[in-house]
Amino acid sequence: MNKIGEAILASGKRLKYVITDNPPRGGMKYTYFAPDKSYVIQFFNDPSKVDFNTRSRIEAIIGKYNPTLPESRGGSLGNDDKLAAYFEKRFCWPTDIVVSPEFGLVSPAYPSNFFFDSSASQLLDLKGKDKKSNWFTSKNRKYLNKSELGDFRSMLQMSLLLSRSIRRLHQAGLAHSDLSNNNVLIDPKSGNCVVIDIDSLVVPGLYPPEVAGTRGYIAPEVLATMELPRTDPRRKIPGSTTDLHALAVLIYEYLFLRHPLIGPKIFSTVSAEEDDFLGLGPQALFIENPDDTSNRPSNLKVTVKDLGPEMEKLFMRAFVDGLHNPALRPSAMEWERGIVHAWDLLHKCSNPDCSSKWFVLHDVNNPVCPFCGTKIADKEIVRLTLNSEVRGHKGQWRRLSELDAVNNTPLFKWHTHSNIFPDEKADLTMQAYICRHNNEWFLINSHAEGLLSPQGNPVPQGQAIRLTDGTVFRASRDDRGTLINVKIISV
Ligand SMILES: [Zn+2]
Repeated sequence: MNKIGEAILASGKRLKYVITDNPPRGGMKYTYFAPDKSYVIQFFNDPSKVDFNTRSRIEAIIGKYNPTLPESRGGSLGNDDKLAAYFEKRFCWPTDIVVSPEFGLVSPAYPSNFFFDSSASQLLDLKGKDKKSNWFTSKNRKYLNKSELGDFRSMLQMSLLLSRSIRRLHQAGLAHSDLSNNNVLIDPKSGNCVVIDIDSLVVPGLYPPEVAGTRGYIAPEVLATMELPRTDPRRKIPGSTTDLHALAVLIYEYLFLRHPLIGPKIFSTVSAEEDDFLGLGPQALFIENPDDTSNRPSNLKVTVKDLGPEMEKLFMRAFVDGLHNPALRPSAMEWERGIVHAWDLLHKCSNPDCSSKWFVLHDVNNPVCPFCGTKIADKEIVRLTLNSEVRGHKGQWRRLSELDAVNNTPLFKWHTHSNIFPDEKADLTMQAYICRHNNEWFLINSHAEGLLSPQGNPVPQGQAIRLTDGTVFRASRDDRGTLINVKIISV
């Protein structure tokens, strides 16, 4: 029979929790659940390490740096109710400090879609286990039922959501410091992810926590200098640039279902430990490094090139230029932008049995799904190029991005305006959509203000523009309205 404990919070509030013999234990803390499982209470494995600095750090995390709490209730600066509600779904952020029986934390329980249910696997009993990403991105996939695995589009969506969450942390000056497959739960079925273990955050002005890091996600420079004393200035400690290494590793794993640094190369024959240390630390080498192919697996079918030049460049910066030079790693916001542009080029694979279902159609001359090798069955590709006017140079346009259009493809404000980005604040009202009717293509205005025809006449809501190869029109007459070029390519 389990005992019930009672925690007294800093606010004076009391919460019950179920005391079990072998509570789940991580590197820093162990966890008890609420009787109804709606929250968890966590205590530190070694209470003697909880000093004034740790308390101040956790107070700041729960209070003034908390993006899941509106500023009006003590949360982060500029946060309104809508933004707080958005990030509440993206982070499992601690809500209170426990002061008795000892120092600890209260956090919300993970939403139920991040736990496997009994239908997840025919081979293993996974019911109630949390969905750590390596269930989906490693050989463990084979144990899961197809319905759990999602597809390339849902993996790309999770990559976008994770980049946005990390960008939000970094914008506030915070760093996660222990980002890994264990600390991001993913649900490929719905394309959602949640960042957990927030209490190891690095907070500006306070000593960083002593995190051990997780194999495969620790930045090479941290692993390489880990043995040095903490006071040695050469020792590299986790922060935002090491988060950017872990973020790139996670995105690569979600999209390619493999690790970017673990390849066939043997770095040391002395011991497995040394081989591991060199291969993930001082001598780490991207398996797709174009100049040094000594770590390249022989069976690489889908590569970073298959995601288009923008994503390829980001991966090269993360794992070639920036692998041993942290300042060169792409920021979370750059990942967000690259993924949004890749998203706009997603095309449905014509092979009904394709496990990826979607791919990035970046090369109209080679419209083939890289995952299964099937050429698209579509007769035509409709490609919209979005351009923005160069500031101060009227009539001069610069290419922003491209959109792959099929019947019913929507256009949003971030397509019609060059100064709008699809972030957490974005207006999700469809502005216009592409429609195929009697073998002709049209753009129908649903909510766009100031849409102009190719001749420059206003196109009211409910009216359409006929799209042919070479059509050019203004998506909005506003200063920052985009100019759209249409190409229709026969396949
Ligand atoms: Zn395919």
